[in-house]
Amino acid sequence: MKKISNYINGQLVSPQSGSYLDNYNPAEGKVYSYLPDSDSLDVAEATKAAQAAFGAWSSTPLANRAAVLLKIADLIGRDLDKLALAESIDQGKPLKLAKSMDIPRASANIRFFATAAMHVSSESHLMDEVAINYTTRTPIGVVGCISPWNLPLYLFTWKIAPALAAGCTVVAKPSELTPMTAFLFSELCIEAGLPAGVLNIVQGVGAKVGQAIVEHPTISAISFTGGTVTGKKIAATAAPMFKKLSLELGGKNPNIIFADCDFEEAISTSIQSSFSNQGEICLCGSRILVERGLYEKFLTEFVKRTNELVVGDPLEEKSRLGALVSEAHMQKVLSYIELAKQEGGKIECGGSRVVVVGRCEAGYFVAPTVITGLNQSCRTNQEEIFGPVVTIMPFDTEEEAIEFSNATAYGLSATIWTTNLKRSHRVAHKLKSGIVWVNCWLLRDLRTPFGGMKQSGVGREGGWEAMKFFTEAKNVCVKI
Ligand code: NAD
Repeated sequence: MKKISNYINGQLVSPQSGSYLDNYNPAEGKVYSYLPDSDSLDVAEATKAAQAAFGAWSSTPLANRAAVLLKIADLIGRDLDKLALAESIDQGKPLKLAKSMDIPRASANIRFFATAAMHVSSESHLMDEVAINYTTRTPIGVVGCISPWNLPLYLFTWKIAPALAAGCTVVAKPSELTPMTAFLFSELCIEAGLPAGVLNIVQGVGAKVGQAIVEHPTISAISFTGGTVTGKKIAATAAPMFKKLSLELGGKNPNIIFADCDFEEAISTSIQSSFSNQGEICLCGSRILVERGLYEKFLTEFVKRTNELVVGDPLEEKSRLGALVSEAHMQKVLSYIELAKQEGGKIECGGSRVVVVGRCEAGYFVAPTVITGLNQSCRTNQEEIFGPVVTIMPFDTEEEAIEFSNATAYGLSATIWTTNLKRSHRVAHKLKSGIVWVNCWLLRDLRTPFGGMKQSGVGREGGWEAMKFFTEAKNVCVKI
């Protein structure tokens, strides 16, 4: 069985402990490879390599830095099929989705920041003809990038590409549940000629590898995407060390359907925003709020179309939902369905595990589930479930829709469906969300800020701002 390696100082290496963890194929419920059970010794080695590489990489001409990153982006494009297959097997998502979304976006992330690096300019301020101030921004040093399992290579590259483009060197950790594409990515970095030590990938569990990255005194900034509870822990460790922090965390996103919406567009996109990637996208709309006049019609059609979704082998073309990432996560999602019942919810469809006959018999599949009859303050409507489970509830007024939408601790994304132009702007303005989609979902211009409000995170970045995070500003004031 394949053993995944760490990527440290330009080499593919074993963990110093010699220990490995099981890596599961969640669609089969079986171990199919092993990943390094790395620890603080591997993180120390990776950080040493990153520190040694920093001087040369940060002073490499921008065009040369961009050239090697663009080469990596090209290689991802060349290996699209191989990477998509690896991601589908590792995470359980339909192969079709990995091919059309995750892997192209990983390449786009790198291309975007590689070219952005060549357009960076500095600021200067003339001070009443007394002095000129100019501001320089230099790469902050060695940084740590920690990513989750739900969009493995997509989010891994979203963290490391701006860091590398800004001139930082990186110690990165993908999720222990989905290590394969980051490993294949390290092979592409070697092939592209990325200098040794510029990027180091240490595989293993969060409590050992992630914690060691956050604690390491040489690492001056942490860019993290993952759960809010983990984010709190990271902030508690990093803040007293005065590390720069970017935290992209969980969500409980409202999807607001006004009665004057384009019904067909609202319903078909809401099916996607509820169940794409088995609902395991931080931006999925898990609370659907429908204006009372449309409520019955919407619910009937939504349940009908949910029942038509094929849950099945991720490698089959017809499968719209694959497996959940792990047995533990499946149990968590099922426990929330039980909780919803205890809270008085009605299961309109789904509500249980699905057995997919054949190769995937032991896989972690859950039927797309629609729940009604719950109020907005119950736990089912307050806590992130992160699976194929949505609640639908009616509202009477625009004010009530806004109140319900904002009534959680999260503020990651929101969607509004209406043909009333003024209302769309008015409501968007009042929603406490880092991103609001009007009559669409998941469209993303990489130049715009991204991230959540409230407990969905800090450090909303996009475009140059995302690279700026990895730099330090210095102002020079010259008397004239
Ligand atoms: P998680 O917080 O369990 O793990 C994320 C990463 O952190 C993993 O690599 C993990 O090993 C590591 N980690 C765990 N403990 C750590 C510690 N003490 N110190 C340092 N690192 C540690 O999250 P997950 O289950 O992998 O991902 C799902 C979560 O991610 C959901 O809450 C989802 O909403 C969120 N998410 C947010 C965004 C966003 O952009 N806001 C995007 C995707 C996912």
